[in-house]
Amino acid sequence: MSAAPLIIFDLDGVIQFDDDVPAAAVAAVEAVRASGATVRFLTNNGIDSRRSRTAPLTAAGLDVDPADLYTTSYLAARWIEAHALAPILPLFGGAADEEFAGIPRTDGDDARAVVVGDWFPHYDYATLRTAHAALARGATLVAMHRKRWWPTRGTRVIDIGFWVAGLEYCAGCEAVVVGKPDPFAYHTVVADVGTPTRVVMVADEEEPDLSGARAAGLEAVQFAWDGSRPNDADYARLVDALALR
Ligand SMILES: [Mg+2]
Repeated sequence: MSAAPLIIFDLDGVIQFDDDVPAAAVAAVEAVRASGATVRFLTNNGIDSRRSRTAPLTAAGLDVDPADLYTTSYLAARWIEAHALAPILPLFGGAADEEFAGIPRTDGDDARAVVVGDWFPHYDYATLRTAHAALARGATLVAMHRKRWWPTRGTRVIDIGFWVAGLEYCAGCEAVVVGKPDPFAYHTVVADVGTPTRVVMVADEEEPDLSGARAAGLEAVQFAWDGSRPNDADYARLVDALALR
């Protein structure tokens, strides 16, 4: 249990930019740790597991244990386990699957939860029909997050809010969201750390990251808000600001 400050870093747009993890970002995380703070990472994506999302960071020289990184796949699995809502019907695939290893699943409408992640490469109509039928029978719709789009390489890419909003509309239900901005995301990180003296979320986007952090009772620090690539001085100012708060 920690009595140190807890700094929670968003990944995309703060630590990583497309495939690049700047050396200054690595140095900033190390400096924050050296100040005595506990560091965790919280990222909204429906693709990765903690293991797969850690790989590009460690390749760039960042010392990060997968257990210190919270993906929405992991948060969804935690939520399902906490609410004992199995079997699940998974609307995701790829590495995210690793986080659900111990959770029973079904391909039928007996699912007690329909879990939505990055389903674009895995979509099939028969499963969509079954998901809709399961929701009509009272299954809970669980969304890893519900972003409309995400920014990459100067463009906007459609995100999994497409599936979430579509299923809500067609099934007449409302999704449980486990990623940012839902308090569940932030509170799970904080509870795992213990009793930090203060908690700060650092992110580039006001919505959903920072608005959600404030609503969950955290301090919020915006970084690289305009989408431009931060330079070494920007990271140095961030480290100073976190130390002063
Ligand atoms: Mg971001």
